[in-house]
Amino acid sequence: MAPSDGTLSRRGFIGGVGAAAAVGAGLGGLGGLAVPAYAGAANEEPSTPDGALAALIEGNRRYRTGRWTRRDYSPVGEERASKQAPFAAILACADSRVSPPLIFDVERGNLFAAHVAGNSIDDGSAGSLEYAVAVLSVPLVMVLGHTDCGAVKSAMDVVSGKASFPSETFGSIGAVVDPVVPAVQSVPEPERSLDHCIVANARVQAHALSIRGPVLPPAIRSGALRIVSAVYQIASGRVVLV
Ligand SMILES: [Zn+2]
Repeated sequence: MAPSDGTLSRRGFIGGVGAAAAVGAGLGGLGGLAVPAYAGAANEEPSTPDGALAALIEGNRRYRTGRWTRRDYSPVGEERASKQAPFAAILACADSRVSPPLIFDVERGNLFAAHVAGNSIDDGSAGSLEYAVAVLSVPLVMVLGHTDCGAVKSAMDVVSGKASFPSETFGSIGAVVDPVVPAVQSVPEPERSLDHCIVANARVQAHALSIRGPVLPPAIRSGALRIVSAVYQIASGRVVLV
């Protein structure tokens, strides 16, 4: 719950834009190096589920095509430190390669992110997303799996009998692998590749979230919320809805 809002581009940022644009112009001729346009904060603030999803898809397109928005990552300052305005919430794996604000090219304060290994639903991840919807009025939740996911690999090993994670040896590691096991089991055995299991896990967790508790299902029924599942392809940077 980063204390930040989405209004950076509207206040006190003009000087930064001009200075960076000048630097960009200076670098533009260096060996044909493409310098991304400096637009300050993207400041996306869509209020509908479809608008939020479109903003994420477009942001990911900018990211993976090298046209990301150049941003000022210095401290946000007192004015913006007491509020946030996320337009979407992401449930992502804890994997160090998965950075939602980066891969969706979204300004700090505009994207609420919960991270747990295996991007699975537990009290912590569900409660975080319920907070985003109920308190922050986020219209979109995306469950985001990723290629080469270690949690899914571990769940596959559990299912195949190659591994187990008893708490006396592994602490709570088993508790983050266990929720992924049903997703692996949902894939027919002949098709149980890592990529298929990663897709299945994103779908299974998104479905589990959509029917869980008193907050999210009514919001979905009213049209105020949409929950989608997706996979981030680390090598290409592409996020694919699944
Ligand atoms: Zn992972």
